Amino acid sequence: MIKTVIIQVNPQAPEEAAIEQAARLIQNGDVVAFPTETVYGLGANAFSSNAVDKIFNAKGRPAHDPLIVHIAGIQDLDKVAVKIPDFVFRLGEKFWPGPLTLVLPKTEKIPMNVTASLDTVAVRIPNHPVALALIRASQTPVAAPSANKFSGVSPTSAQHVLQDLKGRIPLILDGGSTTIGVESTVLNCTTWPPQILR
Ligand code: AMP
Ligand code: MG
Repeated sequence: MIKTVIIQVNPQAPEEAAIEQAARLIQNGDVVAFPTETVYGLGANAFSSNAVDKIFNAKGRPAHDPLIVHIAGIQDLDKVAVKIPDFVFRLGEKFWPGPLTLVLPKTEKIPMNVTASLDTVAVRIPNHPVALALIRASQTPVAAPSANKFSGVSPTSAQHVLQDLKGRIPLILDGGSTTIGVESTVLNCTTWPPQILR
């Protein structure tokens, strides 16, 4: 058991000290729970397979279930994905930041446990000041599934996260209730026409 700390943050204008503390954990290869506009995510450095392993362990998530990689701006898309078709940039401009996840061929830098050994990666820009500030401060894309035990209900508050993951993760950023409360739409952009997967 590890001690799980909860830090309250202003969801509109998150306090810098809290973001810095969370970003340091991500940079050191640990996990942090944070709010997005959909549900709370459990994030780790998307370029570190050891860090991402901690997500699977904390959640009890089976290794065959791939994670979504979160970036803070479209300029970071080419760090995680290659062979990006033009229509993806148009979708990104219209729907990002927001609850749309796009599946694209992955870069070499994305370890295989992030994608459950697929050669594609799911990526989105979350529309939440806390999530965006955390990703920016971490200076790396952040892989994050919902912050609940596997097969549980996706958490829409820090209390939900605590119920499931207390003693299993070091930090929860508490930004209040999420506004949307359901998971993002997932669109496969490696086929034409693109296909809605979720
Ligand atoms: P979660 O973050 O817990 O909502 O789960 C992420 C979901 O995104 C997975 O369960 C898949 O349905 C989908 N997903 C993630 N990566 C891929 C991928 N490379 N190809 C297809 N679907 C994906
Ligand atoms: Mg989930």
